[in-house]
Amino acid sequence: MSASSPAARPVVTRIAPSPTGYMHIGTARTALFNWLFARHHGGTFLLRIEDTDRERSTPEATAAILRGMTWLGLDWDGEAVSQFEQRHRHAEVAHEMLARGAAYKCFSSQAEIEAFREAATAEKRSTLFRSPWRDADPVTHPDEPYVIRMKAPLTGETVIDDKVQGVVTFQNEQLDDMVVLRSDGTPTYMLAVVVDDHDMGVTHVIRGDDHLNNAARQTMVYQAMGWEIPVWAHIPLIFGPDGKKLSKRHGATGVEEYQAMGYPAAGMRNYLTRLGWAHGDAEFFTTEQAQEWFSLEGIGRAPARLDFKKLDNLCGQHIAAADDAALLHEILAYLEAAALPPLSEAQVSLLSQALYCLKDRAKKFPELLEKAHFCLTSRPIEIEEAAAKNLDAVSRGILQELTPRLQNASWTKDTLEPILTELAAAHGIGFGKLASPLRAALAGRTATPSVYDMMLVIGKDETIARLEEAAL
Ligand code: GLU
Repeated sequence: MSASSPAARPVVTRIAPSPTGYMHIGTARTALFNWLFARHHGGTFLLRIEDTDRERSTPEATAAILRGMTWLGLDWDGEAVSQFEQRHRHAEVAHEMLARGAAYKCFSSQAEIEAFREAATAEKRSTLFRSPWRDADPVTHPDEPYVIRMKAPLTGETVIDDKVQGVVTFQNEQLDDMVVLRSDGTPTYMLAVVVDDHDMGVTHVIRGDDHLNNAARQTMVYQAMGWEIPVWAHIPLIFGPDGKKLSKRHGATGVEEYQAMGYPAAGMRNYLTRLGWAHGDAEFFTTEQAQEWFSLEGIGRAPARLDFKKLDNLCGQHIAAADDAALLHEILAYLEAAALPPLSEAQVSLLSQALYCLKDRAKKFPELLEKAHFCLTSRPIEIEEAAAKNLDAVSRGILQELTPRLQNASWTKDTLEPILTELAAAHGIGFGKLASPLRAALAGRTATPSVYDMMLVIGKDETIARLEEAAL
C-alpha cells in the first residue's frame, strides 16, 4: 500500500443524502456508521446534500435531513455542502476527461439510441448502447448538442475490494459508456459523486449496497482521472420485521417519526448501530463505547431486520441510564417535535424533581410522561373511573385520619413510611389497601409511581391538599 493510499490518509467519511423527501431510517443508519467510523479514527465526517436533481430536491427535505442528523447527535464537520453548487466543477472535470481522451462527445439522439436498442433486441445482441461517436474523428463532429460519455474499457474486469461485500468483480463488457455530462451541461449523479468525493478528500465510502454496482462505474471515473479510489464499504439495507424491503407498511420509516414517537436519541443510536453491526455480544452500549469499538469488520453481510421490541428495550435502558438534566432537555424537545403543548415552568420544575422515579421501565417518552401525570396535573384532580372505585367511604375516612398526621411530619420517606404503615395496621388492612386510595387521591389514577415518591415530589402542602380534596 502506498503512503498516500486512502487507507493510510486521515479518515474522511461523508453522508450524501438526496433531499427528495423525509430522512429515511436507512440513511440515518448509514450516517451513523460513517460518523462512528470517522470519530473512531479521529477523522472527519462530512455532510453533502445531493441536490443535483433540481426537480426532486426541496429545501424542506434538506431541512428535514439537518434536523434528523441534529436530533441523532450526528455532528458533521464544517458546513453542509450542496452538490448543485459544485456543478461547474463537475462540468470542468467532464471536459478534462474529454481532454485526456477518457471521454468523448456523443451526438446520438434519443431516437437513434432507441433504434439501436430495438435492432439489438431483434438481433439478440446486448442492448448496451455503443455510441458510433466513441472513436469518431473530432473533425466529423456536427455543430449540434452533445452529451459527454465516459470511454469505458470494453474488455477486462473492474474489481471492487469491498470491506463488507468482499471482492466483487464486474465484467467491463457489461458496462456501457455512461453519460457524465448531459447536453444541457448538467452533470450526472455518477460523475458528481466521484468529483465531490475526490474534492472533499473522502477516504472511505460507506453506503447502502444498492450502490454497489455504481461503485464499478465510479471506479472507472477515478481511474480515468488518475485519482485515488476510496475504500468501499457497501452495507446491507434495512429490511422490515418480515424480511421484506422496509416500507411504510412496516410502520415508521422516517427518522422524524421516531423522534415524534418519543424514542430517546441515545437509544436510537444504540439500536441503529446494532442494526447490521456487532461487537461481540454487546447489545446495550453508550455512544462513547460505540465510537471506541466501531470497525468496518463488525458490519454483517446479511440484511438487517427492524425489530421494534429490541428498539423499545434498548431505549428503555437508555432512559433509565440517562443523566436527568439531559433527559429533561430531550423530553421538552420531544414535546415540541410531537406538536404537544409545552409545559409550564412549574411543571418543568416538578418533572425534573420526579425524573428519578419515572426513568425506570419507560421505553419511550409518552410512557414516562404518563407516569409523570401526578406532577403535571393540578387540583382539582380529575379521578379516572377505575381509580375512583378505590375511594369508597371507608378509604375516604382513612385519608381524613391521615392528613393531621402528616401536618407535622418531616418530609422524607423514612418519616412517612411508619406513618402510613401504622395507619394501615390500625385499620387491619395491608399497605396495598391504603396505597390504592392514595394513588387515586394524589394522581387520579391506578398506575402511578410509588405513593412515597409522589408525596415527596409534590411536597407536603400539595399532598395534604389533594388528600383533603379526595376525602370530602
Ligand atoms: N445520494 C445517494 C443516495 O441518497 C447517495 C450516494 C452515495 O452515498 O454515494 O442514495
